[in-house]
Amino acid sequence: MAVRLTVLGTSVPLRSLDAGRAGSGTLVSSPSANLLVDCGPGVAKRFHESGNLLSALDAVLLTHHHWDHVSDLWTLVMGRWEESLYRAGEGIPLPAPLTIFGPSGTEELLDRLFGPDGLARHDIESRLEFGYRSILPDGPGPFPRPITRDLAPGETVEIADCHLTVAGAHHCEPILGSLSYRIESDGRSVAFSGDTAPSDEVASVATGVDALIHEGAVIADPSRPATHVHSDALTVGRTAAAAGAHRLILNHHLLDDGDEPTRARIAVQVKENFGGELVFAEDLMVLEV
Ligand SMILES: [Zn+2]
Repeated sequence: MAVRLTVLGTSVPLRSLDAGRAGSGTLVSSPSANLLVDCGPGVAKRFHESGNLLSALDAVLLTHHHWDHVSDLWTLVMGRWEESLYRAGEGIPLPAPLTIFGPSGTEELLDRLFGPDGLARHDIESRLEFGYRSILPDGPGPFPRPITRDLAPGETVEIADCHLTVAGAHHCEPILGSLSYRIESDGRSVAFSGDTAPSDEVASVATGVDALIHEGAVIADPSRPATHVHSDALTVGRTAAAAGAHRLILNHHLLDDGDEPTRARIAVQVKENFGGELVFAEDLMVLEV
């Protein structure tokens, strides 16, 4: 079985609110695991719309802690718990707790939300006391607190049949740490840049991947100074070419539906440097890798 990518959100921060699209989020489904990369606004809703179960999600990988990449974690964690309880009421075993990986500060972020003294404690306690008692004959049991782990560039992690390689990225350091990821399973490979300016680390972790999911669907304008925190069509093409990626999937973009002229101009700039397949990601797009 190939690795399947389900694009759950493609937008940049404000456009996710005014264009009806979700923030960053992509589900990676291997033969034995479901991993979500980023969890921006609207991603939990898209999860349902895509036909996937929150309760079947094994782990979340956060690239960085900007709100367009993490703000739906509350919905995701609480929604997964509730969905799991209702399914348990139908005789389906409760899943293992969700594991959430991310850059430095991920453990603190999740502890402040879902830890024993976290912001969600009254929500959790009230549901245990009043809401979820009746779902299961023996009660809901304890809240399945997510397992969290800060990652650093150079680390590798095994998640079921997925081999994860962690690398750096170049976004808003040192204030905000950012990571890129490579996920390998069943002989297939996919890499995620997160938000990043051109980065040798991203190119390196994406060496030879079947698919590179990268930001940068922006027309490069040589007359203006380049941003130091994002990529554009020229630089993302260079990164994909340096990596030797087979397919480049552009996400985290501003493109309106049907704006083919802008896509065509971006494609021309990307292809100045990159000769592989180019795809513009859209919410709920499913791709086999
Ligand atoms: Zn972003």
